[in-house]
Amino acid sequence: MGRTVICDDTKEVCFSYEEYLKSKHWQRFRLKALKQHGKHCMLCGEDNIPFFHVHHLTYDNIGHELMEDVVVLCPLCHSIVHIEGFDIKAALKRSVRTAKPIRPKKKKTPEEIQKRKEYRERERVRIGNKKKKLKKQKNIAKKAVKVI
Ligand SMILES: [Zn+2]
Ligand SMILES: [Zn+2]
Repeated sequence: MGRTVICDDTKEVCFSYEEYLKSKHWQRFRLKALKQHGKHCMLCGEDNIPFFHVHHLTYDNIGHELMEDVVVLCPLCHSIVHIEGFDIKAALKRSVRTAKPIRPKKKKTPEEIQKRKEYRERERVRIGNKKKKLKKQKNIAKKAVKVI
């Protein structure tokens, strides 16, 4: 970006893109974008990282960006986008609109799988017992009706 930018709301004047990224306007917009798009990488779904990048899809509206002009990315996807010139617009056409992440399947540890299994078994027994109890109550109720 070789042109001077005057931020719409803060009226800051920036002479380079680096300077612009430090502007109050951008910092504010960045936080807004993170809030609106959600704290997850819109490409890979990563949401368990301390810092997200807000990437410009277009530099046309610098200083007065629209929410659709930016996407939230993890540092890795961001570097891929810049280094490989990845066609992020095509890839994001769906997810930008809904802002829904494509969640990567996290690998579960054997303990987690075991815990889950035990939980399911407990739930099965619990629900089974409840059903039995209900049936019993129903039968008692039926008998009671007959007696009357
Ligand atoms: Zn990512
Ligand atoms: Zn970028």
